Amino acid sequence: METTESLVNWSYEQKCRKAVESLEKNGFTARYCATSQSAAEYIIAGATDSSTVGFGGSMSITSLDVEKQLRDGGKEILNHTSPALSRDEKLAIMRRQLTCDLFLSGCNALTLNGELVNIDATGNRVGAMLFGPQKVIVVVGRNKLVDGTVQDAIERIKAWATPPNSKRLNFKTPCSSTGLCSDCNSPDRLCRVTTIIDRKPRFTDLHVLVVNTELGF
Ligand code: SF4
Repeated sequence: METTESLVNWSYEQKCRKAVESLEKNGFTARYCATSQSAAEYIIAGATDSSTVGFGGSMSITSLDVEKQLRDGGKEILNHTSPALSRDEKLAIMRRQLTCDLFLSGCNALTLNGELVNIDATGNRVGAMLFGPQKVIVVVGRNKLVDGTVQDAIERIKAWATPPNSKRLNFKTPCSSTGLCSDCNSPDRLCRVTTIIDRKPRFTDLHVLVVNTELGF
């Protein structure tokens, strides 16, 4: 008899594969990954021709644990998230991410129609996803899938992604204490830039890995 876990995995697999099919129709290079390990292997192989690799500050990418392997392989890592960096140093790295060879990012929500939806405070992450880097690999855990519209995806982000992100980054927003969005006007408001990538950007080699496991939030 099949276990609950295997049935849940099967159910998610169908949704992941549907998203991959839609992404391919929308012009992206898309792959289904059964595990985080297979997503990590895809990234390492995809970085072969890259000298510089930018990290967008994604929890999903961090959990794949590829940074050390890429650094050991001789890549220059552009990661602005170290607390030891000054504000100016962080901004300089973010600017260099915009023209790196390979940019790695998570995604806040992916509809089953193959639309990537993100909300940023600074815009560096979404900017690099659109144009600049030679290649972009976006990793999406199954918990980011939305069987609905772009508006549903935005609601998912404000309900489940921004509050914990705001708390993680120590932003003084209502959601970082209540866990709920109140469409605030806080100086620390994280929701400042909303992007919808509904077709592959013309000059960006954009790959999307849809992973059948929970990654980030
Ligand atoms: S609008 Fe404000 S309260 Fe709502 S999710 Fe964004 S930062 Fe949080």
